[in-house]
Amino acid sequence: AYVIAEPCVDECPVDCIYVGERSLCIHPDECVDCGACEPVCPVEAIYYEDDLPDRWRIHAEDNARFFSET
Ligand code: SF4
Repeated sequence: AYVIAEPCVDECPVDCIYVGERSLCIHPDECVDCGACEPVCPVEAIYYEDDLPDRWRIHAEDNARFFSET
């Protein structure tokens, strides 16, 4: 089995990365857009929202729903 090592979580200076349903989720209001989490992701799974490829838009929608329910 694979395990998420979460170096991105350790990088975040404001602790705004939360455990979501299918992935880790960045709180859009708490994120200070510092970019520290992006280069440490080994699978390049972190994007600035405006740069998110269309095929992964669903994750932005998941993210919005996750934080609207919490
Ligand atoms: Fe945290 Fe946002 Fe910086 Fe990423 S860009 S490390 S989520 S504050």
